[in-house]
Amino acid sequence: MTDDAFWAAALADAEAADAADPLAGFRERFHLPPGTIYLDGNSLGPAPLAALEALDGAARREWADGLIGSWNSAGWFELPTRLGDMLAPLIGAEAGEVVVTDTTSLNLYKALHAGLSLRPDRRVIVAEGGSFPTDLYVAEGVLATRPDLRLRLEGVDGPELLDLVDEDVAVVLVNQVDYRTGLRRDVREVTARIHAAGAVALWDLCHSAGIMEVGLGDAGADLAVGCTYKYLNGGPGSPAFVYAAARHHGDIRQPLSGWWGHAAPFDFARGYAPASGIRRFLCGTQPILSMRALEAGLALTAEAGLAPVRAKSVALTERFLALAEAGCAPLGVGVFSPREAEARGSQVALTHPEGYAVMQALIARGVVGDFRMPDILRFGFAPLYLRHADVVRAARTLQQVLASRAWDCPRYRARAAVT
Ligand SMILES: *Cc1c(COP(=O)(O)O)cnc(C)c1O
Repeated sequence: MTDDAFWAAALADAEAADAADPLAGFRERFHLPPGTIYLDGNSLGPAPLAALEALDGAARREWADGLIGSWNSAGWFELPTRLGDMLAPLIGAEAGEVVVTDTTSLNLYKALHAGLSLRPDRRVIVAEGGSFPTDLYVAEGVLATRPDLRLRLEGVDGPELLDLVDEDVAVVLVNQVDYRTGLRRDVREVTARIHAAGAVALWDLCHSAGIMEVGLGDAGADLAVGCTYKYLNGGPGSPAFVYAAARHHGDIRQPLSGWWGHAAPFDFARGYAPASGIRRFLCGTQPILSMRALEAGLALTAEAGLAPVRAKSVALTERFLALAEAGCAPLGVGVFSPREAEARGSQVALTHPEGYAVMQALIARGVVGDFRMPDILRFGFAPLYLRHADVVRAARTLQQVLASRAWDCPRYRARAAVT
């Protein structure tokens, strides 16, 4: 088959899949810049049209017209727990177990301390050495306040995370989906292994929330954090979430004891007394405008349902991998993500020695993914707005950029601050 015939057949096959796609109608509910194939929804989801409207309404009616009264009349004060209750079913939690607040980094700090407070006689935190760096920076920050603790890292202290978990371990911080490789872990199985050693399971769901079932409750997970501006389409810097299993609510302490986590913030009492329930993970005043945008993003995913989202996500990543292997492997591209769909999240990581320049050349041609050190081309596949045909066009563009060496120019090598 000639190259052109190969891509024409691939496109026809993808268009047939699009015609049968039960999620096809969601695409028009996003603002997507014309000419862009957006494969970076795992870093920043695009804007739902409803979020743009919600932002405008929250700014003009609730803030500008309602002023301070909106804390009560517009329900601002309850938004962190109300959004937590919207998010809960998407991660397999119950109402009252999730609160939307702060950033993932801050929530990790709170959740690590909360986990430690459940195992006061244990001295070790286990994490993945290849984790998203902020997770490890925060763990180091926790250690700075607790010099009696030690950090054990997968890839440093031993090859496998679970082999590092023994009776000295208080908390295991583990990602459901790895931000670079896309490796997906089984939440139920890993939680059971952590519990078998008597440790607390703290899940980071940044690359899984909103794109697949998580099943925290079924797995018996203790704590979790995650962000909402990736697959949940909450907007830049939209607040993150914390989950704590209800059975722990009475016992856990977190150190950022601000007034929003107080049992009665408007008593303005002198001493700190934590709120009962998940509210104790709050610290201070929350970004209400961002929460309004997030509300709209959450509603879209809830409406679509995670089962069809995961099914299409698997189909999109399979399609991309197959095309990249057939069309691009001969041009120096390697596959960094797990080849099996079950072991993979919703992203595909490829490698190329000139990965940064290749990605810049792709972006210049309207195919937006991102680059991660040292040589990784990362493509995220979000089923609510991507079409199967987009996947074919993206793979074809990659092949053309590689075959023509279009990436090989100084303009594409200049590094920007955010990659
Ligand atoms: C995106 C991401 C974060 C982001 O943290 P912020 O505090 O929201 O900036 C943290 N951890 C992981 C694993 C991520 O993927």
